[in-house]
Amino acid sequence: MFAIQKSNFEDQGMPIASINPADGKTIKTFEPLNEEQINEKLQRAQETFGSYRHTTFAERESMMLRASGILETEKDDLARLMTTEMGKPLKAAAGEIEKCAWVCRYYAESARLHLADKIVETDAAKSYVRFQPLGPVLAVMPWNFPFWQVFRFAAPALMAGNVGLLKHASNVPQCALAIEEVFHRAGFPAGVFQTLLIPSDAVERILTDRRVVAATLTGSEPAGRSVAGIAGKQIKKTVLELGGSDAFIVMPSAGMKEAVSTGVKARTINNGQSCIAAKRFIIADQIYDEFERRFVEEMKALQVGNPLDKGTDIGPLATEQIVKDVDSQVKTSVAAGAHILTGGKRLERAGNFYEPTVLANIPPDSPAYCEEVFGPVALLFRVKSIEEAIQLANATSFGLGAAAWTTDISEQERFVNELEAGCVFINGMVASDPRLPFGGIKNSGYGRELGEFGIREFVNIKTVWVK
Ligand code: NAP
Repeated sequence: MFAIQKSNFEDQGMPIASINPADGKTIKTFEPLNEEQINEKLQRAQETFGSYRHTTFAERESMMLRASGILETEKDDLARLMTTEMGKPLKAAAGEIEKCAWVCRYYAESARLHLADKIVETDAAKSYVRFQPLGPVLAVMPWNFPFWQVFRFAAPALMAGNVGLLKHASNVPQCALAIEEVFHRAGFPAGVFQTLLIPSDAVERILTDRRVVAATLTGSEPAGRSVAGIAGKQIKKTVLELGGSDAFIVMPSAGMKEAVSTGVKARTINNGQSCIAAKRFIIADQIYDEFERRFVEEMKALQVGNPLDKGTDIGPLATEQIVKDVDSQVKTSVAAGAHILTGGKRLERAGNFYEPTVLANIPPDSPAYCEEVFGPVALLFRVKSIEEAIQLANATSFGLGAAAWTTDISEQERFVNELEAGCVFINGMVASDPRLPFGGIKNSGYGRELGEFGIREFVNIKTVWVK
């Protein structure tokens, strides 16, 4: 698709390549864009914004609904592409495409309401707030939900009249190109959504370009710090959706069966590689032993294998490096005193497979306690009171999501008020929903995606005062 020319960036960063994590075989490699190609794309973004910003909500709505329709119709092919590029089970990949179709529909239908002029009574003859698009927004995105992360940025940003530039993770270039194609085929002008195949080293060059007005990054804390630092110097708005180490608290009144099976799902969804996966299970002393027994049993029963097979619960981790990182975090934590209740090692077969793992007795200074573990590794903690549960849940530098299981209304209120997180789910697992805001506090980032708050991140909130 792109001419092969020497790039300024090609010798740095990760190679841009699809490597099947189920067998380690390289499917396809891509040349990064060179300076001239980057420049052309930025120019096209800026020029397109000049006209696209004047399109009506009705025009954008019909294109966004077409994008939704394409996703629905081509769900199976797109899901297979995703699975072979990053390893999530096929059924989960199909669910992800459906959710993307939903977010496109949601914003197609609701953007005009979220961005309607807001009248405010003052001493003026008329005063109101008008929401206007900002311009080309750079989206730096991760591989773990390679379609969903992009669509949850793009659907609101494009409906608001912005144009998008996608720098996707280097291991999902085919997903990145497929997303660009969905928007083009839906009828959006070519410069409204463009994929830039570039390594992370090239992000600074894009962000410092005057034609790019803002950025959103979903990914790790170091990447977030870097992008926010560059954008801050340029005085450009950013939204950061970073890592998490979500607590999943179970109190004595909770329904044990449902709490256990939901907990297993919440930890192992997406092969354990989700920012909002339940990572730390904080269990009341009275029910701890039974919870541990049932939880370990259910983790052991999970089918690990080829993500294209229908019966597979857990596929390979997305890259060789991730398996190494998870294994090292587990080994170091065990050396520090943590106990392995099941799993604890890489599977001896081709591909990046890691056993579903449960650790207990985790020492406070071990990696499992302090860091985000991005794989199917559950951490169990026993607590004696709700105070201890809340204190432990908050004893992390992250603040993305939290789940608490209790039927006691006063306990529910305490969790809602006292857990330091961007969302609290009571008697359920943390999940995103196009209608509800999503995002974190502390080192999990700032800003919000989704719902009415998400679409207002990349707009000029303009005050109008008329005498
Ligand atoms: P990552 O290594 O930070 O990569 C994410 C994106 O940032 C990729 O496109 C990557 O490009 C780019 N990148 C990496 N370092 C960069 C830098 N210094 N400057 C500019 N761009 C940079 O994260 P990941 O391993 O793909 O994803 C896992 C992390 O994302 C986890 O911490 C997870 O919790 C978090 N996450 C958060 C959310 C949320 O909504 N809060 C959702 C999903 C994932 P390359 O691939 O080229 O390196």
